[in-house]
Amino acid sequence: MTKQFHRTAVLAIATASFFSLPAHAALRIVACEPEWAALSQELAGDKADIYSATTAMQDPHHIQARPSLIAAVRNADLLTCTGAELETGWLPVLLRQSGNTKVQPGQPGYFEAASFVTKLEIPTRLDRADGDVHAAGNPHIQTDPHNIAKVADALGQRLAQLDPANAATYKARLQDFQTRWKAAQARWEKEAAPLRGARIVVQHKAYPYLENWLGLNQVATLEPKPGVEPTSSHLSEVLNQLQTQPARFIVRSAYNDNRGAEWLSQHAHIPVVVVPFSVGGSERAKDLFGMFDDTIAQLLKGLQ
Ligand SMILES: [Zn+2]
Repeated sequence: MTKQFHRTAVLAIATASFFSLPAHAALRIVACEPEWAALSQELAGDKADIYSATTAMQDPHHIQARPSLIAAVRNADLLTCTGAELETGWLPVLLRQSGNTKVQPGQPGYFEAASFVTKLEIPTRLDRADGDVHAAGNPHIQTDPHNIAKVADALGQRLAQLDPANAATYKARLQDFQTRWKAAQARWEKEAAPLRGARIVVQHKAYPYLENWLGLNQVATLEPKPGVEPTSSHLSEVLNQLQTQPARFIVRSAYNDNRGAEWLSQHAHIPVVVVPFSVGGSERAKDLFGMFDDTIAQLLKGLQ
């Protein structure tokens, strides 16, 4: 009995430190990645307490199911995750350990962003030997603002469903967000025009949606297979390839180890472009708008 009480008390303290509780917040949202925490913030405002399970400086494929995360999920009304198998290494553990029936897959409290967009790179065959390949297609959907807009519509509806008392607020905030987003998107597309057709090397296959959106042409990856760190033999092969078919720059995400990209940069004499990849991945990426502002700015620097 005492032990049980002690455990509950510890969890309560842990939880209290994770949710800074505004007075009238209705929903407790746990986002698997910072981009969905940011989108939840845009759409829910002060109607929700939002906690991101990860930061932009962490690899979202590989997260430890820490007790603090389990506690956060235990108290959540809504989980906003990417899905498409991005979190298969850690989310099932969190869900199971949390014992929270409201946020299990299939429940209204479980929201998978990737299920609302058209996915790229759906494999025609699945073989473990090919590395970290996902049956549902590439999960890194947040790098195309069209995807963010689609997820916003779906998330806005879900918030209203879970908290009907504040449905009008969610609807108004969604409309306001979509208006601002559309204007920003037009600006980004105009700014990014010089990038069309640029041949690029990427560290991880993390940007097919960005490439598709801006017309970038990915010609090589630093990882020999998705999820496998760059090896010196593979980097040498990429360097050889670039000598006959040059690329403009190398793209990696803020959380990636920089050694492979730096080595190739020095030997192929092309710059490394570090994109935030999520909210918080750079000084400027304070919200979703800043994330794309900075992504476009960094990519354009790569052309200089
Ligand atoms: Zn990946």
